[in-house]
Amino acid sequence: MTRREVALSTNGFMPAEEGDALHAAALRAGTEMPGRPFLEVGSYCGRSTVWLGDAAEQSGTVLFAVDHHRGSEENQAGWEWHDESLVDPAVGLMDTLPHFRHTIWKADLEKVVIGVVGASPLVARHWTTPLAFLFIDGGHGVEPARLDYELWTSHVAVGGYLAIHDVFPDPADGGRPPYEQIYLPALASGRFVDVSATGSLRVLKRVA
Ligand code: SAH
Ligand code: MG
Repeated sequence: MTRREVALSTNGFMPAEEGDALHAAALRAGTEMPGRPFLEVGSYCGRSTVWLGDAAEQSGTVLFAVDHHRGSEENQAGWEWHDESLVDPAVGLMDTLPHFRHTIWKADLEKVVIGVVGASPLVARHWTTPLAFLFIDGGHGVEPARLDYELWTSHVAVGGYLAIHDVFPDPADGGRPPYEQIYLPALASGRFVDVSATGSLRVLKRVA
């Protein structure tokens, strides 16, 4: 099984063409900013992580994969994106960590992908290393998205890249927070410019 096949067989929310675009953007970051790590916010079962992990390995760097593995608001019982099989019955909460670990093992990426289990704002507040590539696909509520913008985007090195998933300019296509709380503020800040759009994936480059 190729890594792409592992990614495509993994439970998650990343369409193939967006995963391929994510991979291409991360490879570009790895080439332009050698030595700097990649970081993903929101790994779930590791689907996007495999595309990014492969790009990190090819770039000779590592990928930090941040997730508390308890699911987003929209993954909880009663919500649209809930998967009952991901609930730990002893705890009564979701637990995607075993699935994530299995995926990373299956993709032979254990030497490249570093899982960071914790709340994104808490990890971000202790983070200091400049990043070549930041992928934000965590909580899609207004406050989680706002905090991911506020606390993570300053860690993208100038010349590095910011990718955002589930960006829907038209409300008919999906929820607004990744668009309104991350994508628009990133452009308005003057720090980022648009590089590419594939489905709901947006890739920006840090220029200032
Ligand atoms: N990138 C994944 C999908 C991510 S789904 C894929 O390719 O399939 C969103 C993930 O963000 C969930 O796993 C959820 O646990 C995580 N998440 C949401 N809010 C978070 C927060 N505040 N801190 C850490 N992880 C969070
Ligand atoms: Mg997503």
